[in-house]
Amino acid sequence: MEQIINICYIVASILFILGIKMLGSADTARRGNRLSSLGMLIAVVATLLAKGMDYTWIVAGIVVGTAIGAIWAKRVQMTGMPELVALFNGFGGLASLLVGWAEFSRLGTAADGAPPIEFTIAVIVLTILIGGITFTGSLIAYLKLSGKMSGGQIQFGGQHLINAFILLAVVVMGVVVAANPAVGMANTLMIAVIVLSLVLGVLGVIPIGGGDMPVVISFLNSCSGLAAAAAGFVILNNVLIVAGCLVGASGLILTVIMCKGMNRTLGNVLFSGFGASAGKGSGTAVEGEMKGVSVEDAYYVLEAASSVVIVPGYGMAVAQAQHAVKELGAVLERNGTEVRYAIHPVAGRMPGHMNVLLAEADVPYEQLCEMDEINPTLPATDVVIVIGANDVVNPAAGEDPSSPIYGMPIINAHEAQTVFALKRGKGTGFSGLENQLFFRPNCRMIYGDAKSTVSQLVSQFED
Ligand code: NDP
Repeated sequence: MEQIINICYIVASILFILGIKMLGSADTARRGNRLSSLGMLIAVVATLLAKGMDYTWIVAGIVVGTAIGAIWAKRVQMTGMPELVALFNGFGGLASLLVGWAEFSRLGTAADGAPPIEFTIAVIVLTILIGGITFTGSLIAYLKLSGKMSGGQIQFGGQHLINAFILLAVVVMGVVVAANPAVGMANTLMIAVIVLSLVLGVLGVIPIGGGDMPVVISFLNSCSGLAAAAAGFVILNNVLIVAGCLVGASGLILTVIMCKGMNRTLGNVLFSGFGASAGKGSGTAVEGEMKGVSVEDAYYVLEAASSVVIVPGYGMAVAQAQHAVKELGAVLERNGTEVRYAIHPVAGRMPGHMNVLLAEADVPYEQLCEMDEINPTLPATDVVIVIGANDVVNPAAGEDPSSPIYGMPIINAHEAQTVFALKRGKGTGFSGLENQLFFRPNCRMIYGDAKSTVSQLVSQFED
C-alpha cells in the first residue's frame, strides 16, 4: 500500500507543477487550475488510504470545510478576492500550527526510522512559528483590506526591536526544548512559542499600510506554503513537502513581481510603513487645470481614430465596467479601428486583476499587451482611453525625481496623440499623488462612473 501511496504522491506532484505552469497564461489558466485540483484530490485520497485513520472527524471536516469554501467562493466579488485569499492563507497557517502542536503532544510515540527527536522538535517549532505568524498576520491583512480595521499604519517606538526580541525568544525557547525534550517545562515553553508566534504575526502586519496589503498577502501566502512544507517534514508526508515548497516559491516569486511593478523592495514594503490608504503623496506640485470633454465630442475623435489603446485600472474594477469596455472595443473594431489593451502589472489591487476582469468579459487574449510591448507603439497611437487608472499612467514616475513613485515603470499614455481619462472626479490613486497626465494639453477628462461613461460611448457608436 505504501508504494501505491507514494506513486500517487508523485503523480500529484507532477500535476501541481504542470498546473502552476499553465497558470502563467490566461488561455491555459483554467485548465491549469483544474489539473492542480485533480492533483490535490489524488494526494488527499492517497493520504486517506493510510492505515489507522479515524474517518469520523475527517469526513466532518471535509463536509463543513467544503460547504463554507464553496459558498464563500461563489459569493465573493472580484474586488473582494484579495481579502478571501488572505483568510484562506491564514487558515492554512493555522492548520500547520495545529499539526505541529499535535505532533509535539504525541512525541515519543514515533515509529522506527523516524528522524532524531531534536530534529523533529526544531521543525515543529519552525512550523508553529511560520504558521502562527501567517495566521494572525493574514487576519490583520483581511481586516485592513476589508475596511473592518483602519488601513493606516499602527506604529510605536521600538516596534522593530520588540519584534526582533520576540523572534529571538522563540528561537531560544525552541533550541532549549529541542536540546532537552524531556525538560519539565517543555510544554509550557511550547505554549509560549505558540503565543509569541501569534503575537508576532499581529505586530508584523499592523505597521504596514492597507494599500500594501496585497503584497503582504502574497508574502503570507508564500509563508503558508513554507509552514505546510515544514509540517510535511514533521509528519513525514512527501506530497505536503512538495506542495508547500511550490506554494512557498511561487508566492515569493509573485511578491517579487509585485514589488518590482511598484519599484519597491520587499524590505521597504514590510518595514517602511509606506502604503497607508491616503496622504502619502508629495512630489512636485502640478500646475494648470484639467480640461473636460463631453461624451459626444470624445465619440467624434474615437470615430476618426485608426488606433486606440485602452488602459484599464482599479476604477474599472470598482465600476465593474469590464463588459462595457469589451463592447466599446468591439464597436471600435467594427468601425475599422485597431484596438489593444495595455496591462500594467500592478494595475488594480491584486496581481493579474485586469487580466482576470477582461478575461471574464471575454476580451480576446491576443489584444492584451504588456507594458514593455505597448510603450514603444504609443507615440504613434491616435487615442489612449484611460479607464479608472491613475498611478500606472502617472508621468511623474519617469520625470519627477522628487515623486514618491519615481522609478516605477508606467504605461506611457501621455505620449499618445490624444488621451481620454475616465474617472469620477479629481480623486487620487493608491499613491495619493496628483497625476500630471490629467493636466497635459493632449489629455481630456470624461467625468463619471467608468461603466456609465463607457456605455454612453458605446451608445454613440450604435445610434
Ligand atoms: P489607482 O488606484 O492609481 O487609481 C484608480 C483611479 O480610479 C482613481 O484615481 C479613481 O479616481 C478612479 N476610480 C475609482 N472608482 C471609479 C469608478 N467607479 N469609475 C471611474 N473611475 C474610478 O489605480 P491604478 O490601477 O492606476 O494603480 C494601482 C495602484 O495600486 C498602483 O499604485 C499600485 O502600486 C497599487 N497596488 C497594486 C497592487 C496590485 O497587485 N495590483 C497591489 C498593491 C498596490 P476618482 O476617485 O476620481 O474616480
